[in-house]
Amino acid sequence: ADQSKIRNFSIIAHIDHGKSTLADRILEVTKTVEQRDMKAQLLDSMDLERERGITIKAQAVRVMFDASDGETYQLHLIDTPGHVDFSYEVSRSLAACEGALLVVDASQGVEAQTLANTYLAIDGGLELVPVLNKIDLPGAEPERVAGEVSELLGEDPDDVLRISAKTGMGVREVLDQLVQKVPAPGGDPTAAPRALIFDSEFDQYRGVIAYIRVVDGTFTKGEAIRAMAAGTEAEIDEIGFFNPAMTPTATLGPGEVGYLITGVKDVAMLRVGDTLTTKRGAATEALPGYQDVKPMVFCGLFPIDSDDYPDLRDALEKLTLNDAALSWEPETSEALGFGFRCGFLGLLHMDIVRERLEREYDLELMTTMPSVEFEVELSSREIVPVHNPSDMPDPTKIREIREPYIKASILTPKEFVGTIMELCQDKRGTHAGMQYLSADRVQLEYDLPLAEIVLDFFDQLKSRTRGYASLDYELSGLRASDLVKLDILLSGDPVDALSMVVHRTKAHDVGRVLAEKLKQKIPRQQFDVPIQAAIGSRVVARETVKAYRKDVVAKCYGGDISRKRKLLEKQKKGKARMKQVGRVEVPQEAFLAVLELG
Ligand code: GDP
Ligand code: MG
Repeated sequence: ADQSKIRNFSIIAHIDHGKSTLADRILEVTKTVEQRDMKAQLLDSMDLERERGITIKAQAVRVMFDASDGETYQLHLIDTPGHVDFSYEVSRSLAACEGALLVVDASQGVEAQTLANTYLAIDGGLELVPVLNKIDLPGAEPERVAGEVSELLGEDPDDVLRISAKTGMGVREVLDQLVQKVPAPGGDPTAAPRALIFDSEFDQYRGVIAYIRVVDGTFTKGEAIRAMAAGTEAEIDEIGFFNPAMTPTATLGPGEVGYLITGVKDVAMLRVGDTLTTKRGAATEALPGYQDVKPMVFCGLFPIDSDDYPDLRDALEKLTLNDAALSWEPETSEALGFGFRCGFLGLLHMDIVRERLEREYDLELMTTMPSVEFEVELSSREIVPVHNPSDMPDPTKIREIREPYIKASILTPKEFVGTIMELCQDKRGTHAGMQYLSADRVQLEYDLPLAEIVLDFFDQLKSRTRGYASLDYELSGLRASDLVKLDILLSGDPVDALSMVVHRTKAHDVGRVLAEKLKQKIPRQQFDVPIQAAIGSRVVARETVKAYRKDVVAKCYGGDISRKRKLLEKQKKGKARMKQVGRVEVPQEAFLAVLELG
């Protein structure tokens, strides 16, 4: 390919502003996909993505565009997820691009992830092409939003394209502007070959499929390659690009984006962020890689049927191949048996992994309350990480507990500033700044404990602002806090999987609300079940689930056997998501009751 006619770009935006829809239109305008094969959000190929209407994995497609300057350009489009949980996917994609289409919903305006992604793109040295989308909507305010965009990028508001990804209006103009503004990739075709692995996927039959962006030189089918960090050596079985289906080709040259298959079966051997070179004429200097992603939220996953434990391990191993951000280790709970402690980027990520495990691997799981990772300094000065409340050391041996803090950036119409400040205060936040982005739009900054955010902060923010506020955050470090472990006892037995770590000043309230919630969630049993919340030996709240009076089976005493069996069957079904904890049947919801504390 003629290097000067290649353009690599990502589409970035706040969630729901229309990235995937715009990608669809680009596939149409460039006739990459025939109209009859077109379905909405074509690039969101995972079932889950289609159902939820969100993009989870980034995608990379090659399209050929006949521009109005008479030239044909080879564009590589990398669609990215917009949710804060997946920002690591965004930064990876950006490293493979020279430009980014910044999509802003003209009926909403600049939002928290608009800002966050814009800063990522600017940091990456990318040329930005802003567009105002959804101008077909009656509520669109292109003038106001163009003002916000120009404030952000220093662009002349009149130069910001106004489009509708839904109707296709203005989409050609976007591509015309893009090929003019975004520079061609600059790699050296004669230098030792180097390519960045910016993503990878595991295929059951073909092994690791590495998504690559060639920087220098050329990679050819059949050639021997080397992954510079891992030291892996292999031969290229197949090399190609996405159109959007995998399309084999003979070579990939400088600036080109595509995939490579070697038969390597272990993703660790072709790791995302590594640099590929050829064995012959090998490069000596690797490309800048990526920072490792760190899980922020942890929870236990336990099979309902303990026979499924090996299957769960197997499924986690497979999922990890496609999801570098997922971490896990075996965990044993007295209450729930054998399972895994898993680490996620956020609650949405946790939810998606759980759902994929259940759907794609046909497992029934119990999920425990999410927690963050604390750093505990013992009296002996030893420092231990704790990401499971039940592992919290004996309080008399603790010198200090430190918890992760985030810097939150909240964008909101100014009428909601008061209620947001109240919410942040309530979540132990400290005010760190406030700017006006326009006459009506305010950016609030708060330092907040991550533990408060992972529970219900986002939902509360949405409901208090009728969905008008948006949130972005980044980790800012650890701070010492006065935290205590709150235990839950059922019938006098502590249930390890229900323990949580809370701020001392909140322990009473949380204990009380939690006990009430559990009372609603735990069905009546044949005996009274006292529920207690306790810090150490001090009980801070108690409730009782009263025994039910009549035995269901006794009721059809003397009745025919099949009816009795049916009844029992029905009962069993209702209990599908139950776990026997001591003498008590505890349903799944109880293990997540804390998520509804707000
Ligand atoms: P993403 O999260 O940024 O990928 O956003 P999507 O492409 O999934 O779009 C979110 C929603 O906005 C979907 O319901 C789209 O149909 C809708 N949408 C996208 N572009 C437009 C547009 O130009 N006009 C209108 N009216 N709706 C749009
Ligand atoms: Mg999308």
